[in-house]
Amino acid sequence: MMNVEQNRDLSIFDGHNDVLLALRKGKRTFLERSDEGHLDLPRARAGGLGGGFCAVFVPSLPPADDPAGDARAAIAAFSDPAHFPPTPELGEAQRVTMAMMAALFRIEEESRGGVKVVRTAAEVDECLRTGVFAALLHIEGTEAIDSNLDALEVFYRAGLRSLGPVWSRPNRFGHGVPFAFPGSPDRGPGLTEAGRALVRACNRLGVVIDLSHLNERGFWDVAALSDAPLVATHSNAHALAPSPRNLTDRQLDAIKESDGMVGVNFHVGFLRDDGKSEPDTGLDVMARHVDYLAERLGIDRVGFGSDFDGATMPRELGDAAGLPRLLDLLRRRGYDDAALRKLAHENWVRVLRKTFGT
Ligand code: ZN
Repeated sequence: MMNVEQNRDLSIFDGHNDVLLALRKGKRTFLERSDEGHLDLPRARAGGLGGGFCAVFVPSLPPADDPAGDARAAIAAFSDPAHFPPTPELGEAQRVTMAMMAALFRIEEESRGGVKVVRTAAEVDECLRTGVFAALLHIEGTEAIDSNLDALEVFYRAGLRSLGPVWSRPNRFGHGVPFAFPGSPDRGPGLTEAGRALVRACNRLGVVIDLSHLNERGFWDVAALSDAPLVATHSNAHALAPSPRNLTDRQLDAIKESDGMVGVNFHVGFLRDDGKSEPDTGLDVMARHVDYLAERLGIDRVGFGSDFDGATMPRELGDAAGLPRLLDLLRRRGYDDAALRKLAHENWVRVLRKTFGT
């Protein structure tokens, strides 16, 4: 296995984790190693994970005991739009969002230089070179943002650099995809007028607009409106696994045309062709999505979007400390050092630089 300490070149910057949500259960901290869930600073260092998009997500459901339990409950509850649990109200969403952002800023302070909330692509690059965990603040489902976008202005000044307008539920900005498998992402109407204003504001500020979880009409609305590279931070190929959470070939072609990218999601239910949340899923299944996306988008437009602490991982990977096993497999399948660097972080850094302008 590769020695990660000697492979800072292959430091991974990852498109999605839910560690801030997992930490709210109060059973562990980010700075101490745990066997619970998938991600903390010691396991990130052991696996060569140099940072990633840290999601702020306001749940509709009470938390389960483990990420797999949360993922199972979410998939069950959000399969049929006729029976979705309610979308959180603005006030409640802002309360939870403030608490999760504050938690990240406290982690940054307590880490004494081990963790940095990054606001530019240059800072991401610098963190990856120096071994500081680069936390990019992301909101998954913008229930905490009002239609006037006042909260967006404030969150941006605090450090927010990425948002998914919707999670897999409707809100004032648009509609998400349900999880029912198999299924098309073409479910429900496109962005609302407020959603279109949100896209324009993200372009103006330099905030990533994450297309993962957005339904297909919303996707095409963003594609038509946005002047930034199109990004799906944690989604896979619909041609290999027909989950509505995955991207059709047409969507992939639009992402390629915009010079955007896709972060490969490690959730077994979005990788497998039968959609089963089965941890006994080989890493080769993940590698097939990397192959497919690299073929369709080009090697410059694929990265990782693990969904650590928010999904069911292949047992063979386990957690963040298992990432070298994935890179080893990709190397055996013919990805050379230059390609692995692109997958690991170079593509994310390029797309962030283009989006942020800095
Ligand atoms: Zn997600």
